Amino acid sequence: MRFTERVAIVTGAGSGIGRATALRLAREGASVIMADWSEEGLQETASHMPADATHIERKLDVSDEDGVRTLIAEVMDQFGQIDVLVNNAGISGGSYPPVTENEKGDWEKILGVNLIGAMLMIKHVAPHMQARQQGAIVNTASVAGIRSGAGGNPYSASKAGVINLTQTAACDLGGFNVRVNAVCPGLVETGMTKAVFDYARSNDKEHKLGGRCELRRYGKPEELAAAICFLASDDASYITGQALPVDGGNTASLNLPGMK
Ligand code: NAD
Ligand code: ADP
Repeated sequence: MRFTERVAIVTGAGSGIGRATALRLAREGASVIMADWSEEGLQETASHMPADATHIERKLDVSDEDGVRTLIAEVMDQFGQIDVLVNNAGISGGSYPPVTENEKGDWEKILGVNLIGAMLMIKHVAPHMQARQQGAIVNTASVAGIRSGAGGNPYSASKAGVINLTQTAACDLGGFNVRVNAVCPGLVETGMTKAVFDYARSNDKEHKLGGRCELRRYGKPEELAAAICFLASDDASYITGQALPVDGGNTASLNLPGMK
């Protein structure tokens, strides 16, 4: 019960990692504000909430600053404090062609949600944390923000930006006892990766899913939620500005040919 009497906002709470995180925060005592641009997804998450949990669901596009401003004002009116912000909403847009064929609009859309959306949430939430000299922010980056590969544009660039934003915000806010960290998920089965899993399963390649991870398997949303809640909790009271890979060992390995 690490979040008793704490107020937490989770973006992208209508699916996958955000859903698992919102549910875990609630189970550990938090009042949870769930924001997502999918109302259907939010309803589904709400239906799994513990009966005694305090939670509200709000439709929000994190890349829309007016919407972000309105939501935060509403949360402050209703709860008077924000202790935890999980910036998890994200889009991948699937696989991209080589850089020579990239469209500027795709870059603007992905960076707008994944990077600028996270910045906007921090911009509007952090002043309330600074005022109380207390708060923890966790951003969902990606192993794709640590390394990249063909097809990674512009998702990888957006997640590299999220890791850097994590460091900058940790420096800006550290003097106010507000911590900012990130998790870098490896391959996790969620809405975002549904096409990858569907393809593998229908082509007899299920064994390859997560095959590049040293644990030889893909991750579950709950395993990301555990790491996010650790970084958001007082258990991580001396950790800030860090990006923690939660990837089954994927980034520990060069994946050299012939080494396995
Ligand atoms: P998901 O698609 O299941 O969930 C993402 C949620 O974010 C959805 O409910 C979606 O509606 C919401 N969302 C997207 N854009 C939004 C916006 N502009 N405003 C509000 N809500 C928005 O995918 P997921 O895997 O759970 O993704 C969560 C985070 O994890 C993302 O930031 C993603 O980039 C990251 N991630 C996922 C994986 C993976 O393998 N699944 C790997 C690395 C990083
Ligand atoms: P990905 O390729 O990462 O899955 P999507 O573009 O499919 O990204 O978006 C993820 C989720 O966001 C989906 O549930 C989709 O319904 C929703 N979504 C995508 N674009 C919009 C949009 N412009 N307005 C509202 N919801 C959207």
